[in-house]
Amino acid sequence: MAETSYINAAEIFGENVFNDATMQERLPKKVYKKLKETIREGKELDSETADVVAHEMKEWAIEKGATHFTHWFQPLNGMIAEKHDSFITAPMENGKVLLSFSGKELIKGEPDASSFPSGGLRATFEARGYTAWDCTSPAFVRQDAAGATLCIPTAFCSFTGEALDQKTPLLRSMQAINEQALRLIRLFGNTTSKRVTPSVGIEQEYFIIDRKNFLARKDLVYTGRTLVGAMPPKGQEMDDHYFGAIRERIAAYMKDVNKELWKLGVSAKTQHNEVAPAQHELAPIYAEANVAVDHNQLIMETLKKVAFRHGLQCLLHEKPFAGVNGSGKHDNWSLVTDDGINLLEPGNTPHENIQFLLVLCCILKAVDEHADLLRESAADVGNDHRLGADEAPPAIISVYLGTQLQDVLTQLISTGSATHSIEGEHLKTGVSTLPDFLKDATDRNRTSPFAFTGNKFEFRMVGSEDSVGEPNTVLNTIVAEAFSDVCDILEQADDFDLAVHDLIKQLAKAHERIVFNGNGYSEEWVAEAARRGLPNIRSMVDAIPALTREKTVRLFERFGVLTRSELASRAEIEYEIYAKKLNIEAKTMIDITRKQIIPAVIRYTTTLASSINQVRAACDADVSTQTQMLLEVSDLLAQARVNLSKLEQAESEGIAMPHGRERAVFYRDHVATVMESLRKPVDKLEMLVDKDMWPMPSYGDMIFEV
Ligand code: ADP
Ligand code: MG
Repeated sequence: MAETSYINAAEIFGENVFNDATMQERLPKKVYKKLKETIREGKELDSETADVVAHEMKEWAIEKGATHFTHWFQPLNGMIAEKHDSFITAPMENGKVLLSFSGKELIKGEPDASSFPSGGLRATFEARGYTAWDCTSPAFVRQDAAGATLCIPTAFCSFTGEALDQKTPLLRSMQAINEQALRLIRLFGNTTSKRVTPSVGIEQEYFIIDRKNFLARKDLVYTGRTLVGAMPPKGQEMDDHYFGAIRERIAAYMKDVNKELWKLGVSAKTQHNEVAPAQHELAPIYAEANVAVDHNQLIMETLKKVAFRHGLQCLLHEKPFAGVNGSGKHDNWSLVTDDGINLLEPGNTPHENIQFLLVLCCILKAVDEHADLLRESAADVGNDHRLGADEAPPAIISVYLGTQLQDVLTQLISTGSATHSIEGEHLKTGVSTLPDFLKDATDRNRTSPFAFTGNKFEFRMVGSEDSVGEPNTVLNTIVAEAFSDVCDILEQADDFDLAVHDLIKQLAKAHERIVFNGNGYSEEWVAEAARRGLPNIRSMVDAIPALTREKTVRLFERFGVLTRSELASRAEIEYEIYAKKLNIEAKTMIDITRKQIIPAVIRYTTTLASSINQVRAACDADVSTQTQMLLEVSDLLAQARVNLSKLEQAESEGIAMPHGRERAVFYRDHVATVMESLRKPVDKLEMLVDKDMWPMPSYGDMIFEV
C-alpha cells in the first residue's frame, strides 16, 4: 500500500475521455464542426455524421483497451444502469471477426426496460425503452477489472417518449433556463451572449471504513447503514477530525481516487477530513449542470470501486451511524453565459447592479413559491435521518443572503431603492509579517439550506447518496419560471428603468419571508418559520405530494420539463422505493437480532450463570455482581424479544399492503417506530455483554479503525 509513485495530473487528465481535444484531433473537420453544432446549439445530427463519429470513437476506445461499449444511463432507482455489448461482429467465413460500432449504436440503445421503475408509465408487457446519446456529456473509457469499456452517457425514455430517468428532465430544464435567462439579459442590453447554462459544483461527503468491519455488519451490507450500535466513548465532540491531517491509508486511497477521476476528466480538486471520524469530502471544480451531474455519479462510483481495491469500504448512506454526523452533498449553482458572465456575480457594489438585483429577487420568488418542491428534490430515504436533526440543514427551506445583500434588500424594501453597499473590511491579524487582506463582505452560515456564497447559491440539503439530477432540474425550472414572469412584465413596459425598479421592490417585499440569516438549527427558527407560513416538511413521505400538486404540474408543463403523468409516475416510484427500503431494513434487523444478537446474549448469560454456579461451588464468595448482571441482561433480552415480535408483525402487515402512499406512511409511522424501540434494548445490551462475545464490530471499531 505504501507505494510512492507520483502522478502528473496534467498528463493524465482526461486521457480516457473523448473530449474536445480528441474529437478535434480524430474527426474530419466537417464532421467535427457538425458535431460541435449539435453540442452547442442542439442541431440534429445526421446519420452519416453519426457513423463517422462512432467509428472514430471506437478506434480511439480500442486503443485504450476497450472491448465493449455501453449506454450509460440513470434510471429512477437512483443508480447507474449499463448493458455491455462487445464490438465484435458475426464471424466471417475465415472464422475471424471484425470490430464495429455504428452511428445507430452510438445514438440509440434499446435496453429491456421492464425491470426499471416506471411508476406505471409503462406496463411490464410494454418493455420497450430507449436510451439516446447525450452528446453534451462526453463519452469515456472506463478501465477496471472488467477490462475497458466505452461508456456513452445517454438519456432513457419510454417507447412513447416519457422520461424514465434523471437526465431527460435535467436537459429539458437546462433548455428552459437558457431561453428565459436569455430573454432577461437581452432586456438589459446584452446582445452578444448566445447561451446561458447553469454551472454546478458538487461537494460530496462519504465515510470510509475497513472492509472486514463492513462485511461483519450485515446491516451495512444490506441497508448501507447500521441499524443497531452503541455510541463509542469518543465521538466528534473534540472537533479533532475536521480538516485534520489525513492518515496514510486514507491518503493513499484519495490519491488513487484522484488519479482515476482525473483520467475520466473529472476535475477532483478539494479533499479533506469531515466532521465525523472516518468521514471525508471530495469536491470537483464546477462544470455545466449536465456534466456535473454525470461526474457526481462517476465520483460516487469511483469512491466505492477504489475503496474496494484498498481493502476499504466507502459508505455513501446519509446516516451510516446514528449519533454521528451524517453525509450530504452541497449543490453549488450559478448561471453563466457562454461568454463568461455569471448572472449571480454581484460585483463590489451590488446596490448599483440592477440586473443582479433582479436575478436575486427572481431566485427569492422561485424558492419561496416552490419551497416544498425544492425540499422534495432533496428527499431521499436516508436523508430523513439527517434533515432537521441539528447537523444538517433544517427541513425548512430558507435563503441566507449574508450581511451585505441583506442590507441592500432592507434598503430596497424600506425606501424603494438601494443607495449603498456594505464593503468588505481589511482582515487585521496584528502580525506585521502576515499580509492584511480584504475580507469577503459576507460571512458564512453553515446552518442554512440555501445560502448565497459570493457568486453562487449553495443548496445544502441534498443527501450524499442521492442523484443531484432532480435538485438541479427543480432549481433550473423554478428560476426559469420567475425569469419568464418578470420578462412578461418588463417586455411590455414603456419605461424599462422605472418598471424594473418597481418590480425589484415588489418582489423583495413579497418574498422577504423566505430570507433568514440566523441560526437554522435553533428552536426559535422553527417557531418563526411557522409564523411566516414556511413549510416544515420533516419526512420524505410528506415531501412527495409536492410533486403532483397543481402548482408543480403547471410549472413543469409550462416549460416542457415534465408532464402530469411523468410527475405522477415519479411520486409513485418514490413511495415504492421508500416502503421497499424500509422493508429491507426491517427484515435485516429481524435477521441480525434473531440470528446474531439474541444467540450471543444467550451465550453470554449462559456463561454468566455457569460462572455463578462454579464460584458458589468453589467458595462462599459474593456473586452479587454476576447475579445483578445476569438479571439486567436477561431483562433487556426479554424486552428485545418482545419488540422483535412486534417488528415481525409490523413487517408482515406492511409487506401485505398494496404499493402506494398508504404503505409508505405505514412503514414510516409504524415499522420505523418499532425498529427504534427494538434498537434501544439492543444498544444497552451491547454495553453490557462481553465485547468478545458481541457478534459484530462496534461503532468505535468501525470509525476509529482506519
Ligand atoms: P465554498 O468554500 O464556498 O464551499 P468552494 O470554492 O470550496 O466554495 O467550492 C465549492 C464548490 O462550488 C466547488 O465544486 C466549486 O467548483 C463550486 N463553485 C465555485 N464557484 C462556482 C460557481 N460560480 N458556480 C457553481 N459552482 C461553483
Ligand atoms: Mg461549500
